[in-house]
Amino acid sequence: MKRLQDRVTLVTGSSSGIGAAVAESMAAEGAKVVVNYARSSKGAEAVVEKIKAFGGDAIAVQADVSQEDQVKNMFQKVIDTYGTIDVLVNNAGLQKDANLVDMTLEQWNKVIDVNLTGQFLCAREAAKEFIRRGVTPEKSCAAGVIICMSSVHEVIPWAGHCNYAASKGGVMLFMQSIAQELAAYKIRINSIAPGAIKTPINKEAWETPEAEAELLKLIPYNRVGVPEDIGKAAVWLASDEAEYVHGTTIFVDGGMTLYPGFATGG
Ligand code: NAD
Repeated sequence: MKRLQDRVTLVTGSSSGIGAAVAESMAAEGAKVVVNYARSSKGAEAVVEKIKAFGGDAIAVQADVSQEDQVKNMFQKVIDTYGTIDVLVNNAGLQKDANLVDMTLEQWNKVIDVNLTGQFLCAREAAKEFIRRGVTPEKSCAAGVIICMSSVHEVIPWAGHCNYAASKGGVMLFMQSIAQELAAYKIRINSIAPGAIKTPINKEAWETPEAEAELLKLIPYNRVGVPEDIGKAAVWLASDEAEYVHGTTIFVDGGMTLYPGFATGG
């Protein structure tokens, strides 16, 4: 029996990058995966095809996670298709970078709407279904699992990106608060905080050898992460192997949060 056998798993923003790798890793462990995308279905369909090619089960579903009606429709579609939901990975996120004095309200609101409000809207719908259904012992000892995709910037301040850092700092306390609230229902909730992972969101930070060399100064392990690093962590966190892991953040960052500037004594 695979670690996530038959667990219905929704991964938001999974048509690219980390979300795509999480969707594929979960499917390889037997999960039935819902690949969510915001607008164009092209990337999501490619992820679904890849999963089907190795014998997995997946569908693509459109929803902008910052829109309440679209999120509700997406969950209805998941339940209509698979009967329930077992795992939610709140992965969708974006950046709209600017220095504070240049940041528009639109840039601020967009990042908070997708990165924080989107996690709230999806977690609320998942939690309702987890509470309604309860534990299905043949699938898992949890009534449901939520994984919030945070960032090392839930603890590392980030000049020029205050909207993003505020959204991820918000995700940390949102995750901890709902973990406290829902533990009695056997719903497990945690975050993954990736460091620098090679995806479209941060391409300029690794696409040239010079940029990558600069980036590596921030990573004690001396390797930029790849989406599969996060996929492996997500599979474990969703599985019953992590039964007693609740309300915490797993940093998958090659040591980025170790204050690398102090490696030589500061
Ligand atoms: P990415 O740009 O490839 O993925 C983000 C995904 O979210 C895209 O597929 C995008 O279409 C989707 N998305 C954006 N707005 C959406 C919306 N309104 N509704 C639904 N989907 C939406 O980048 P990524 O690096 O794979 O990012 C995934 C998550 O990981 C994000 O939450 C990001 O903040 C986080 N993260 C990434 C890194 C990194 O180094 N790449 C580091 C820390 C955290």
